Amino acid sequence: MNLRGFERREFPLSVRKLAFKRCCRDGVPHCENCGIELKAGNIEYEHLLADGLSGEPTLENCGVWCRSSCSKKKTFTEDNPRMQKADRVLKKNFGLTPSRHKIQSAGFRKAPPQRTASRPIERRS
Ligand SMILES: [Zn+2]
Repeated sequence: MNLRGFERREFPLSVRKLAFKRCCRDGVPHCENCGIELKAGNIEYEHLLADGLSGEPTLENCGVWCRSSCSKKKTFTEDNPRMQKADRVLKKNFGLTPSRHKIQSAGFRKAPPQRTASRPIERRS
């Protein structure tokens, strides 16, 4: 479970089938975002409103997109930053951030002064 409170919900098979049918032109599937022809392995059923941001797994929220560019780009440049921000805001507002108190310790001993050419070793007399 994440802080936003629900598990990931993938599209059911029935929704994926209908979405696939919708994106086909002359029997060939095309990316609904950029329009390129979709090849096997390069197809992604994309949550138009991200699942982690309460996007429902319905046909209206399902886009058939190419995985290699459209889907990756949306996931990494739009969805993930928005969800990270939502998590940060939740953590801050509900006191779930780590405390900022400094750990108390004796610290390190101060090193003895080093010998340099301008400050030779003190001789004890
Ligand atoms: Zn595309």
